[in-house]
Amino acid sequence: MGQPDGYDVVVLGGGSGGYACALRAAQLGLSVALIEKDKLGGTCLHRGCIPTKALLHAAEVADTVREAGHVGIRAAVDSIDMAGINAYKDAIVTRTFRGLTGLIRGRGITVVEGEGRLVGPTTVDVAGVRYTGRHLVLATGSHPRTLPGLEIDGERVLTSEHALHLDRIPSSAIVLGGGVIGVEFASAWTSLGTKVTIIEALPRLLATEDEESSRRLERAFRRRGITLKTGTPFRSLKHTDTGVQVTVESGESFEAEVLLVAVGRGPNTAGLGFQEQGLRMERGWVLTDERLRTNLPGVYAAGDIVPGPQLAHRGFAHGIFIAEDIAGLNPTVIEDTGIPRVTYSDPEVASVGLTEAAARERYGEDKVEAVVYDLAGNPRSQILRTSGCVKVVRVADGPVVGVHMVGARVGELIGEAQLIYNWEAYPSEVAQLIHMHPTQNEALGEAHLALAGKPLHVHG
Ligand SMILES: Cc1cc2nc3c(=O)[nH]c(=O)nc-3n(C[C@H](O)[C@H](O)[C@H](O)COP(=O)(O)OP(=O)(O)OC[C@H]3O[C@@H](n4cnc5c(N)ncnc54)[C@H](O)[C@@H]3O)c2cc1C
Repeated sequence: MGQPDGYDVVVLGGGSGGYACALRAAQLGLSVALIEKDKLGGTCLHRGCIPTKALLHAAEVADTVREAGHVGIRAAVDSIDMAGINAYKDAIVTRTFRGLTGLIRGRGITVVEGEGRLVGPTTVDVAGVRYTGRHLVLATGSHPRTLPGLEIDGERVLTSEHALHLDRIPSSAIVLGGGVIGVEFASAWTSLGTKVTIIEALPRLLATEDEESSRRLERAFRRRGITLKTGTPFRSLKHTDTGVQVTVESGESFEAEVLLVAVGRGPNTAGLGFQEQGLRMERGWVLTDERLRTNLPGVYAAGDIVPGPQLAHRGFAHGIFIAEDIAGLNPTVIEDTGIPRVTYSDPEVASVGLTEAAARERYGEDKVEAVVYDLAGNPRSQILRTSGCVKVVRVADGPVVGVHMVGARVGELIGEAQLIYNWEAYPSEVAQLIHMHPTQNEALGEAHLALAGKPLHVHG
């Protein structure tokens, strides 16, 4: 277990934020203890990003086979073998887990297995052994939330964690919550044959995305046969002989075999001694300054416990930032708006920067320009038989401040979009860059050409 005290850095929680910090700190020559009560890799690897994307890929394969006739290939989906999908998904998680554990041990990091509790400003107790660091990094992550009157039983009423371990495809499902997690499960299950209804209290799916993206996603989901009930707050739940019945505020009821509760995730900060040490928190979230420092000297926080978008790569970035800050490298402050976001549904939704509405609010109603380039004009998208768009938002005579995309595989375009946003590129600068033909990337190029005043494949 190593020496219990005298570490340069003690990290509590071995998920994306915590292990990235441990890896970078060790790389910088700091001695590190990484405390994890479950499995290194955390939510993202075991219950989040990786298994959901494997499930979504299996779903995409089913759709590809089902729709093969459209490209002249005769094929049919014979049956969906959930055990086979789970084996495929679990194998990816296991392989990645093995790689990650090897990486962490190879960097000379002391891994402490067990539940940690803060017992001093920079001291963590794990089963009676105390680990003190010159610095402490809190990275305990988040858990699925529920609503009053909604008891999760793991059988009929599920969180995403249960949904990832189902041994069957539900015949029907109500997805409560039209955020990223709800939308991704709705998409995967629909492809695998489940009849899905999404119930969302807010007026649109993916409410934090640009309105254009929500509108396009909703249209595509309706076309796929998903029932959407937006602007529809939940009222109550009843168990039935065959599943669940959900009643909404208007009095309307919906029945299904299972209910997925995807109403957001709350921070894992209760009962860990944080309050007792005087850590500044708000509704369970750990408050930090822009350098991720808490109010306690030497104590930092990373990842989902810090208010902001709950994304694995934000956790990685936090972890790396903190390690470099501790090592005195003066890293650049991370801005949440510059962090790329992808929802891996069919169609995918990807974005970086501000929505058009947020840009107008920040820069002024008449100081913002936006262009929507429809993927109908992009041959590669037609080959893939996807519809959608690339929307680019700029400050008038200024840089690009938002990129929003909908369509199959647009998540893969976010790399270029985030460079454009984070380097504060002007549309005219991007317009100079030549995009490979035929690619979906061209759509991003075309949108910038249009915004630079020289549209190419655009009508009107
Ligand atoms: C279904 C789903 C899909 C997702 N898909 C994506 C995606 O595609 N892309 C993306 O970027 N993000 C995705 N996310 C979000 C992503 O998983 C999280 O943002 C990320 O895991 C947060 O990292 P973290 O280090 O803050 O917390 P976690 O990954 O939650 O890690 C926290 C770790 O701390 C440990 N821990 C907690 N308390 C203690 C304690 N007292 N002692 C010791 N150990 C403790 C936990 O066991 C856990 O391993 C998804 C999440 C879910 C639920």
